[in-house]
Amino acid sequence: MIDKDLKIYDSVCTGCSACTEACAFPDENGINPIQLIKNEAGLAVPRIDPNICTSCMVCYKACPTEDKIFNSEVTFESYRDKIGECYFGYSLDNEHRFEAATAGISTEIATYLLETNQVDGVVSSYQNDDNEIITEIFTTSFEVKKTRGSIYRQVSLLNGLAEKIEQGNHKKLLVIGLPCHIEGLKTLKKANKYLRKNVEFITIALFCKQTKTEEFSDFERRLLHAKPNQKINYRGKGWPGFTSVKGGQGLPFTNTKFSLMWGSFAFTPDYCFTCSDPIGVVADISVGDAWLRKYYADKTGSSLFVANSETGKKIIEEMAISKRIYIKQESVENIIASQNMDYVKFKTSYINERGVAFGDLDAHSENIPQSYRRLIKWIKFNKWLYETMIRKRIVDFVPEIALKVYGRVSGKIFETFSK
Ligand SMILES: Cc1cc2nc3c(=O)[nH]c(=O)nc-3n(C[C@H](O)[C@H](O)[C@H](O)COP(=O)(O)OP(=O)(O)OC[C@H]3O[C@@H](n4cnc5c(N)ncnc54)[C@H](O)[C@@H]3O)c2cc1C
Repeated sequence: MIDKDLKIYDSVCTGCSACTEACAFPDENGINPIQLIKNEAGLAVPRIDPNICTSCMVCYKACPTEDKIFNSEVTFESYRDKIGECYFGYSLDNEHRFEAATAGISTEIATYLLETNQVDGVVSSYQNDDNEIITEIFTTSFEVKKTRGSIYRQVSLLNGLAEKIEQGNHKKLLVIGLPCHIEGLKTLKKANKYLRKNVEFITIALFCKQTKTEEFSDFERRLLHAKPNQKINYRGKGWPGFTSVKGGQGLPFTNTKFSLMWGSFAFTPDYCFTCSDPIGVVADISVGDAWLRKYYADKTGSSLFVANSETGKKIIEEMAISKRIYIKQESVENIIASQNMDYVKFKTSYINERGVAFGDLDAHSENIPQSYRRLIKWIKFNKWLYETMIRKRIVDFVPEIALKVYGRVSGKIFETFSK
């Protein structure tokens, strides 16, 4: 986050890169005064070179975070009202459905919009064989396929994007990212004259409660007996899919050590705790897993997704008629239940308190219930516990049953505190 004094708060910065993209004043050598660097935690954050910065404040205007934290009135009830038309469904292309993160809805929308010329490019990310995260503007359905799956790492989706859009003379783009990326895209567009005047965006956000730092991937490599820095394929091969390395072992997503460490707060960057949009209502369409018991039997891939705008709804209805996706109406209640009602409540309450607890922000409100403060303490304790167990390799020796029991207990305590 960048504030009015151009002070940068690493703890609540998502590294989306809206600020670096908005900066309109490179020096005479073309050097941008604001650049992304990796901080001690290995997370991308911006740094301003005061010698060449003109203090024009465009980076501040492009940052999606400050306004969200200090001026946001989000409550669980107001958030629920923003969730649009809800669906259950999947891609009718079996390859997409099976190889994708969940059910190939995102890839199917991308290919459909390209093939029907409703967009001239798709902004999306993937990990290359050298384990680097690449964001490209794809212009063919064939290329889009390589972005299927999940990336459980920080993605700076907007980094370098404005220039690529201008160079490619793109006019209408589909952008696929996490809710924080789409928020960044929206504030970037407001701050960047070229994008404002020349480009229209259609957006897809993935449901997201958290991403992970690189330490989480290192832990997974250990579980998979992989080489240091070897690329991990997250998800794919049915639902909920596998985590695997090329030519090596694959672990089902449901593997206790993997799923508990994923579902816990271990190696969740602090900025995820100041997110208030777990279902991605910021985007035209948001897509997630069908974490409802009634859908568990299907192992090919089933999704819950939401049309949050008229544009989103039109695309989904058109695609159902064209037999590109199967859809069935779902309820808002079931969408929230699939994402753990208590956690959605936590993420849509008292953002300022979360900013104080997980970031280094000043408190703005005194009216926080005691139970909420206890909940935050509980989350911080669990985060510490799981991270210590992983770092000290204690988890390697803890029997699965003990982890499962602890997982249940900690879930119940979370539930009690969040009442
Ligand atoms: C970090 C993370 C957390 C998530 N948390 C939840 C959750 O709590 N609950 C839930 O129901 N679903 C969650 N999801 C979403 C879910 O796992 C699927 O990504 C979603 O259902 C879309 O599936 P799909 O088959 O339509 O995607 P696919 O057709 O496989 O397409 C995936 C698209 O997502 C993009 N993508 C993948 N990872 C990232 C990333 N880190 N940043 C930006 N773009 C990315 C790819 O580039 C591609 O465009 C999460 C996903 C991620 C990446």
